[in-house]
Amino acid sequence: MTETKEKKTSEIKKEADEISCPVKRAVYFVDEFLKGPMCGKCFPCEMGSYEALVRLRGIEGGSGAEDDLGALRRIAGEMLKTSRCKKGKDTANFIIEWIDTDVFAGHIQGVCADKECMALVEYVVIPDKCTNCALCHEACKDNAITGEKAATFLSEYVPFEISQERCTKCGECIKVCPEEAIELIDVMDAEGVEV
Ligand code: SF4
Ligand code: SF4
Ligand code: SF4
Repeated sequence: MTETKEKKTSEIKKEADEISCPVKRAVYFVDEFLKGPMCGKCFPCEMGSYEALVRLRGIEGGSGAEDDLGALRRIAGEMLKTSRCKKGKDTANFIIEWIDTDVFAGHIQGVCADKECMALVEYVVIPDKCTNCALCHEACKDNAITGEKAATFLSEYVPFEISQERCTKCGECIKVCPEEAIELIDVMDAEGVEV
């Protein structure tokens, strides 16, 4: 049986740094830390990491609150003071570094500026740009897009539309639209889009 090599925190940090959104980055880092380098020898590092991950996932998932930011600062501060090794201290420092961006506060307000936290965004068709080519409809495996394909015998069309109930946010439609008529918008702004 081949042994899987455990990742170092520096490797996890390098991978996490490729993620644009600091909230998603922090979720990735702490999750990977818990799966690998976190050895469980000291309580504040172990429990702090678990609690941090729960709170970070809440923020990523759109249910974060101001309390979570305070709790994350407290957790990271305790980890920094009491962790026995560099791995725990590094994790605490990364959490502190990422929380101190405005991005966390933005997520609490319902906005992921990088449009990477899927709970906070929706795929929508911009009606004025849609030419009814139906390519998005063909690309969508979840049957989330409805509309009538352009045809010579039709003179008026209703633009294609995405059902938010069915959309799994896979992103395939946006890749095939030749008119850039599909956009990712903040859920909180979705009511302002005319369909
Ligand atoms: S601080 Fe270091 S020794 Fe303590 S639980 Fe975390 S990884 Fe293990
Ligand atoms: S691919 Fe774009 S232009 Fe074509 S129907 Fe879909 S949204 Fe409209
Ligand atoms: S994001 Fe995926 S599931 Fe949603 S409408 Fe586009 S192709 Fe369909």
